[in-house]
Amino acid sequence: MSKSTIELNQGLYDYLLSVSLRESRVLKDLRKTTSLLPNARMQIAPDQGQFMALLLKIIGAKNLIEVGTYTGYSTLVCAQALKEGKIIAIDRDEVSTKIAQKYWRDAEVDNLIDLRIGDAVDILEEMQDDPVIQGSIDFVFIDADKSNYLNYYELTLNLLRKNGIILFDNVLWDGAVADQSFQDEDTIALRKLNEFLLQDDRVDITMIAIGDGLTIARKKT
Ligand code: CA
Repeated sequence: MSKSTIELNQGLYDYLLSVSLRESRVLKDLRKTTSLLPNARMQIAPDQGQFMALLLKIIGAKNLIEVGTYTGYSTLVCAQALKEGKIIAIDRDEVSTKIAQKYWRDAEVDNLIDLRIGDAVDILEEMQDDPVIQGSIDFVFIDADKSNYLNYYELTLNLLRKNGIILFDNVLWDGAVADQSFQDEDTIALRKLNEFLLQDDRVDITMIAIGDGLTIARKKT
């Protein structure tokens, strides 16, 4: 019997990966390449990637939006889980997304990914009036600048179909959200988001302790 989530030490986490992770060769290579970069911690954990890919398959998602692509691990793991469909991947960084594109091509899924470089609020705002996109999105992954998470939420919720899901990354922010001695902009923004989602009747939510914390919100109507 358990009244809280099991604590994962390195040994147990390694075991979890050893008996559950099915990572493609290209994903492995990309993870290795990214781990050498200064911002490597921006890459999602491999078990989280596999969890997202499974969710995507369960809901039969075809049309995805990713806000914050970095070197494209999450994009790639989702693209490999898609049989057909499209991922609109948004990022402002041309350097890291160049790495992403190389691996997408290597995995032969680049045809499923529509990379858009620029300010995500501007790009999402432009989509709001597009009748083709409006209500067609099944799955959204938000993993960009934390101070804009609430903006990204409103803008993508409006594009999401009923029963579609939005995933928010880093909602536990290495524990800082629960420690009031942290009062920086990102931590405050994530606390605000978490509190906002809890009372938002437009969605069902769950927050899970995978990676750096992941909230899943399902659009009700
Ligand atoms: Ca992240």
